This record gives sequence, structure tokens and C-alpha cells, in this order.
Amino acid sequence: MSHYNGNLIVMKFGGSCLQDAKSFNQTMKIIQMYIKESKLIIVTSALKGITDKLINFYKKSCDEATECEYLLENIYNMHKNTIDEIFNENKPEYNDSLDFLDDNIEELSQLGRIVRLLRPSMDIQDIIVSYGEKLSTFIVSQYINSQECGIKSQFISSDEFIITDDNFGRALPLLDETEELFIKNVIPILESDAIDLICITGFYGSTKDKKITTLGRGGTDLTAAIVAYCLKSKYNVKVIYWKDVRGFLNADPRISKKTALLKNISYIEAKELAFFGSKVLHPVCLDVNEKRSIPSEIRTFENPESEEFTTITKEVIRDEKIIKAITSIERLSMVTIESGTMISLPGTVSKLFSLLGNDNINIKFISQSSSENNITFGIDIEDAMKVSFLLRNSDLFGKQWFNIKIDHDISLIAVIGAGMLHTPGIAGKVFTTLGNNNINVRAIAQGSSELNITIIVERKDCRKAVNVLYDAFINQS
Ligand code: ASP
Ligand code: MG
Repeated sequence: MSHYNGNLIVMKFGGSCLQDAKSFNQTMKIIQMYIKESKLIIVTSALKGITDKLINFYKKSCDEATECEYLLENIYNMHKNTIDEIFNENKPEYNDSLDFLDDNIEELSQLGRIVRLLRPSMDIQDIIVSYGEKLSTFIVSQYINSQECGIKSQFISSDEFIITDDNFGRALPLLDETEELFIKNVIPILESDAIDLICITGFYGSTKDKKITTLGRGGTDLTAAIVAYCLKSKYNVKVIYWKDVRGFLNADPRISKKTALLKNISYIEAKELAFFGSKVLHPVCLDVNEKRSIPSEIRTFENPESEEFTTITKEVIRDEKIIKAITSIERLSMVTIESGTMISLPGTVSKLFSLLGNDNINIKFISQSSSENNITFGIDIEDAMKVSFLLRNSDLFGKQWFNIKIDHDISLIAVIGAGMLHTPGIAGKVFTTLGNNNINVRAIAQGSSELNITIIVERKDCRKAVNVLYDAFINQS
């Protein structure tokens, strides 16, 4: 079927690509566009909305038996309706899909009973949630087989080759073990003449002792990256992430008056953007693609032929603007701890971050002046109360030696571009621009990788700061 020439494309389709007959049709159209030139592997998420429902089903399984049944019925109906809508009832794939659905809903119902007996545990939650991808991907694979175009697809459940650590709910892949299994279990199918395309379930894998683990919300992106990683030694591989956005933008349209699509960025820059609130891709998938220099594209599902998309590559493209994007986190709290006792007293910072880390507090930036008189860090506003409580009740920081201050009306702005490494004058220009516009800088942080300069301003100045920096660095005439 495909005119194979050593090229292989891994495509990720998210839940919004799988919600009704129209979107299944569009997915099929995209597959047909690409399969002419390339071998394809597709990786799919659960049908739109199903993961949330499965999480809910798990939570309710502990005590509310009736609500649980209702939820499961709802999950069943959503799949049944999709199957009815997309298949011709005379095709064998229609009945195969219904049988698969019945069997899996029965398994889910038994798992619900197990939760009620044994009480909740993260590992059962992961098994339950993985059914979303198992069902959707099986249906997609059958759907492809039922079409007249003659593409033959094979369904593979990703726990057959993705091995992860046992951090349930947010597991990370063990890439060496995974690659070994992929070569053993998946490559032979890929190379068989009887199969044109492989459909792999997104979002989950299993531990070495065969317990199902999920990769964190949005984890199907990561599955696609893992699959590409395993193919790289044999194939000329790239990944296309089909999304409901055009790609990465150079500023948040809710804050900046101007924004433009970033057509080419490097992995290191994309990771910065992913951190600063751009939820385009699961951040770990960028790391995995970067490890083997796998190029990837973010394209619009609705408009697959559009020239407007983002290409992400290993190389930093230097001929363009040095600053690629101005991003921001508008709502943030900033904690400042002051004390003369910190001067030359090793271990204070470690105690501080262990205290916060043990309570799952995520730190957004850190800054410490070289006089060591104070340390400043940023946290989510939602964590501010907890942090205040932890610090004031701690044996060390709660003592009279430490002065603790928490500001809530703070925003963080990041000026991002890998090209600023060894380029003098960028920080100078940032501060002159802000100063000329009467914007007071409350704190600054910059890592020595020089990928971004982080500036903390009052929240009332956030939008203005983003816009003047955008004009100074990106829109300059
Ligand atoms: N279905 C999972 C989620 O909703 C994984 C994904 O969509 O990538 O998070
Ligand atoms: Mg999803």
C-alpha cells in the first residue's frame, strides 16, 4: 500500500480528533494523505472526555455504587454511539468493535468492584484509566480496516513494549528496556507485508513487573515521542502531533496584543515555552525527541494542508531573531525569606526546599543575591497558604531569625531565545525597555544556559511589560 522509502512518520491524534464521525473521517483523510509516501504508525488518545470520566469512575467506585454504574453506562454509551456512527453495520469490524467494547466494559465493572473491596490505590486507578486509550485505539484500528481504501492496520497495546518506573499516575519511560521490547515485539509487525499501518494506544505503559502505569495527563504526546525514539536507529523518522492549535505562538494571545506563529524552534526553546504556560505539548515528550534529534511538527487537525505549522528541531536557528518569544505567568506568588543567619551557613537552602518539596510544592523560579541575605522564589498562588503555614511552623524558618514575606500580586515574564547565549546586551535592553516604560522589576532570575531571562513584575504591569518587550525584541522595525 505505502510507497515505502525508508521514511517513517509517527502521528499523534488526541481526543479532539476522535469525537464524532466527522473527526474520524478527517483522521482517515490525513492517514491517506501521508501513507502514499511513508510508512505510518499512529498513536491515539482516548475519545474526547473519556479520561476524565474514567478518573471519576475510579473515585466513585470506593463508595457510590449507583453513581458508578451510571458513569460506566455513560462511558459505554459514548463508545457505542461512536461505533454506530462510524461503521457500516454490515462490516465485520462493526461487530468486532462492539464485542471488544462489551468485554472491556465488563472488565471495568469488575475493577470497580475490586476498588470497593480493596480501597483506592494509584495502581488500580492507572489500570482503569488506561481503558480509554485501549478502547479508542482498537476502534480506530478497526475503523481503518473497515474502509474501502484497503489499508490494513494492526492494533498494539502500548504495555507490550513501553516499560516505565512505578511512579503511578505520572510514570517516566525506561528507554533502554522499552527500545529492546519495541525491536522484539513491534518491528516485525511493522516490517510484515501484511500490515500497512500500526495503531498504538497512547498514554500508558507498564512496570517491569507488568503493572499498568499512565504517563500523566496529555501523555499520548509522550507515547508518540517514545515510539519515534525506538524507531530512530532503523528509520528516518519524524513525529507529527495533530492538534487543535496551529503550533507554538510567540506570546500568549490573552495577554499580548500581538502574537505570531513560531514556524521553527529548537527543542530547548520549545521546552521553555511548554514550561511557561504554553500547553501545546507534554513537556517530557520534547526531551525524548531531543535525545535522538527527532524532528517534529505541530499541525492543525482541521487544516492538514496548511503551511502554518511549527517545526521543532534539535538545531537552534540563529539567522532569525535572537528572542523567539515573550511569555508570562500572570498569577503567581513570591516568597522572600530574609535573615543575616543565612550568610555563609551551608544547608539553609537545602532545608528550605526539602521542606517545600516534601509537601509537593512546585517552585517556579529562584533568586538569591550574592550577599546571601535573602532568597526569593515563586510559587503557584494556590500553594501560597500552605507555604506560609509550612514556613511559619517550621522549627528553623519559624524562628525569630527569619523574616518571611509573601507577595500575591506578582507576575512572571520570560524572554526566551537560545540565541542569547554569549550575545551581550539582551539583559541590558530588557531592563532599559522596562525602565523607560516605568515598570518596576521586583526580582530577576537567569540560568547560566541563557535560554531565558525571567523578570518578576507587579501584576498590574504584566500586560504592559509583555507588550513593550514584544515590541522591543520581536516586532522591532
Ligand atoms: N487521555 C489522556 C488525557 O486525557 C492522555 C492524552 O490525551 O494524551 O490526559
Ligand atoms: Mg486527551
